[in-house]
Amino acid sequence: MEKWTIADSAKIYNIDNWGSELFSINKKGHVCVHPSPTSKYSIDLRDLMEDLIKRKIKPPILLRFMDILEGRIGAINRAFKSAISENDYPAKYRTFYPIKVNQQRQVVEAITQFGKRYNIGLEVGSKPELVVAISFASGTNIPIICNGYKDAEFIETVLYATKIGFDITIVVEKLFELEKIIALAKKVGIVPKLGIRVKLSSKGTGKWATSGGEDAKFGLRISELITAIELLEEEGMVDKLKLLHFHIGSQITKIDKIKNALIEGTRVYAEMRKMGVDLEYVDIGGGLGVDYDGTKSSYFSSVNYTVEEYANDVVYQIKNICDEAGVECPNIISESGRAIVAHYSVLITNALDTNTQSLSPDFEEVLETTEKLSPTVRKLVDIYKSIDRHSLREDYHDTLQLIQEAVSLFNLGYLNLQDRAVAEWLCSRIFKKINGIVEKIKPIPEELSNFHLSLRQTYFANFSLFQSIPDSWAIDQLFPIMPIQRLNQKPDVMASIADITCDSDGEITSFVGENGRSKFLPLHKVRKNEDYYIGFFLIGAYQEILGDMHNLFGDTNAVHITFNKKTNYKIDTVINGDAVWESLKYVQYKGPEILKHVRDTLEKSVAHRKVSIEESSHFLELLDKTLLGYTYFGE
Ligand SMILES: *Cc1c(COP(=O)(O)O)cnc(C)c1O
Repeated sequence: MEKWTIADSAKIYNIDNWGSELFSINKKGHVCVHPSPTSKYSIDLRDLMEDLIKRKIKPPILLRFMDILEGRIGAINRAFKSAISENDYPAKYRTFYPIKVNQQRQVVEAITQFGKRYNIGLEVGSKPELVVAISFASGTNIPIICNGYKDAEFIETVLYATKIGFDITIVVEKLFELEKIIALAKKVGIVPKLGIRVKLSSKGTGKWATSGGEDAKFGLRISELITAIELLEEEGMVDKLKLLHFHIGSQITKIDKIKNALIEGTRVYAEMRKMGVDLEYVDIGGGLGVDYDGTKSSYFSSVNYTVEEYANDVVYQIKNICDEAGVECPNIISESGRAIVAHYSVLITNALDTNTQSLSPDFEEVLETTEKLSPTVRKLVDIYKSIDRHSLREDYHDTLQLIQEAVSLFNLGYLNLQDRAVAEWLCSRIFKKINGIVEKIKPIPEELSNFHLSLRQTYFANFSLFQSIPDSWAIDQLFPIMPIQRLNQKPDVMASIADITCDSDGEITSFVGENGRSKFLPLHKVRKNEDYYIGFFLIGAYQEILGDMHNLFGDTNAVHITFNKKTNYKIDTVINGDAVWESLKYVQYKGPEILKHVRDTLEKSVAHRKVSIEESSHFLELLDKTLLGYTYFGE
């Protein structure tokens, strides 16, 4: 047998493709993370986990690599810079980070910090997000763009912010909003910088295609746009209309969809300029996708273009249309969220291989003495003993039939529990044998190609899918998942991953594999006393805030890490995950009240001598410890 190498592992998990040169496998067979694609430094994730365990930080742990944020902002801005120079584009580019993608304070802090050199702005879509942006813009010159539905309070806040000197643009999503803005502007005595979002007939692709098109939730139709301009002209406010916005959805998988939207959007811009509207910005929204499965395809978990191609296309199309129409080129804004934050966070947790634990059933002795078995089960024994590559197909189908027969006989009362257990055991033994034979036959016969599914084993991972990767459940989003150690050893188990919630939906059966989507995750047999860690990658966009508290599993521990030449890495901060009492508080329970109630009740039992004082106090201690502890699995 040829030796298994890290290159073999890289291939089956496709890490070199989705890893974007930020994640790779090192010589020790561990996954490591690089601060930037060109960096010669890396952090070994397995060693890092061991260090974190020494620090008594328990899994699941969300690792946030702040340098990656910096790298991603840099990559997008460099791509636009070179596209602008290549195309002799006469205006500027600017990123506005849409904070809904990840509102974590430290994340927005890092983005605004790293983004200083690129004059990064913030995009908000609600009142809480507006407050966040105002706090970051205070004392700096960070510009803000306001999208989403806005009530009078929102608008008034923007008006006063403008008055005080904030650089803030309010984007009109609906005609009635514009009427409100005009009325309030007159009342406050200041007109804000205005933008208008248009509904293009161009649509995106993939899961978020409905964000674009004529029936989209947001934006003005072209006819409404004309009304809006007329209204602003009447009020003498049209000179404040500075920005044209469109957003055709997130994770746009095909570059030609982006192209279509750009052409249509820029045409709208050019016509508005010709009408005399002094627009300065075209804001192309989000949509810059992430190649989650590494296939570089138009499948919805991938994208068929690079950041460079995206930037180049944007700049080229806008320039082309403007030149044709003979209007000045606008400054370009993109609101790329997913592409900035997806890579920066990784969840790592321990997996429990429940199938190879010490108590696996063993009925070996029935193979010797078959007289007492029911005829159906005896037939299975015969198959098990005689199966070879020539009888493979027939034996496979017979086995499926016999196991069904065994269940029917059991239900009718003709088969006892012992025989049913033996039948089940034989069935899995036969499948294992078939697998051994099938692996040697190439190509695998058609009807056996899905056969592996019956051998798939469930590994339990200490996490909640609903909390940590909700899009995997909600929209079948594919995230790269793989073990972070032993990658120089052949993984011999075909697995699926179940979380620890009591929900049968809390299982992952779709993985990034060698050729895109796979129904298995190859994993190693977990050794006794081994901490076997699995990493969930590219989960920085949307997952943290969409995560919910199913079964009251709360926020995970989070560790912020930066690269450090001396010690390899430095921990900037550790954010404790929710303790049990915090999860309970969220649903209106109070820890101390629970303890008091239980104590008072226990005292009654003590008074009746049903419970000893020691038992009672030990129980209360346990309860107290649980309330203070982590919501996830401990030892
Ligand atoms: C959600 C959203 C974005 C972010 O989109 P990504 O695809 O994550 O970059 C940008 N702009 C608007 C208006 C949005 O609603």
